[in-house]
Amino acid sequence: MKALMKTEAKEGLELTEAETPRPGPGEVLVKVKAASICGTDLHIYSWDEWARSRIAPPLIIGHEFCGQVEEVGPGVEGVAPGDYVSAETHIYCGRCYMCRTGRAHLCEEMKIIGVDRHGAFAEYIVVPAKVLWKNDPELPVNIAPLQEPFGNAVHAVKRAEVGGKRVAIFGDGPIGIFACAIARRLGAKAVWLVGLSPRRLEVGKSLGADETLDASAVDPVAELRRLSGGRGVDVVLEMSGSPKAWEEALRSVALGGRVVAFGLSHERIPWDLNTVVFNEIEIVGVVGRLIFETWYETRDLLAEIDISPAVTDELPLDDFEAGFGKLFRREAVKVVLYP
Ligand SMILES: [Zn+2]
Ligand SMILES: [Zn+2]
Repeated sequence: MKALMKTEAKEGLELTEAETPRPGPGEVLVKVKAASICGTDLHIYSWDEWARSRIAPPLIIGHEFCGQVEEVGPGVEGVAPGDYVSAETHIYCGRCYMCRTGRAHLCEEMKIIGVDRHGAFAEYIVVPAKVLWKNDPELPVNIAPLQEPFGNAVHAVKRAEVGGKRVAIFGDGPIGIFACAIARRLGAKAVWLVGLSPRRLEVGKSLGADETLDASAVDPVAELRRLSGGRGVDVVLEMSGSPKAWEEALRSVALGGRVVAFGLSHERIPWDLNTVVFNEIEIVGVVGRLIFETWYETRDLLAEIDISPAVTDELPLDDFEAGFGKLFRREAVKVVLYP
């Protein structure tokens, strides 16, 4: 089969021929219909410090996908060939303390599709049946892969508790943009998106941001103070991982406000501890999705929210370089590849 692979420990990816996998016990073979490129894939492509420490080539990458079940392995129940599916990308063990106490998204033995095992940028993928999610048949194939990053945003916005609140979102990547739409739907009083890409800020506005702030052109702290009548914003969702954004987030949030930490950074983030203490700021770390609570919430929200403006590019897998290039240059929001 055709597969997009990190063949060697260096920058770039290679479109190559790979052996079509077979499902083992408890596993399912899925014929991939569409798969979207995630920030994680960009890290693996550019072979940064995180990727070098985590990825063992050769590896087929990609984890946001949808497809049709082709074959089920021994012992699999409740799934049949022809089912239209996506998957939770975090493969939880089901045996550890976190799994057994209802927090499988924090599994101590977590394995990730397209990171720790072969991924979805290929004609076929094998995944454990326990992480499959059956899609509504009407869900378009270019939207179904986006349930995974959209779910990240759902989990983060729910932890932020935005109802009736003035909300600032730092980071104009896809998850920040999705968070605008979700915060709006979950009753935020106002949603302000801070970013650096005019193209992406525009998409954020079309998905529900009241105002967008280009942090390269204006001072986001002064603007957020002005927009919130001088008091500061009630909730910040920090989805950029930038040290500058963190500094601005802590200066933008109101006394007693909340900052949700979602964006990852490979630099050390300097913290103004005294501001956190004296202003009694609550900082909440959020990762992944609740398995599978967030998937049900995602299904309900996607029935009401049209996220198609976020799908800026759709390409055959063969043209992956064009898609990755647009994302590196921040010209695209979500790129969907068709194997
Ligand atoms: Zn992803
Ligand atoms: Zn576990």
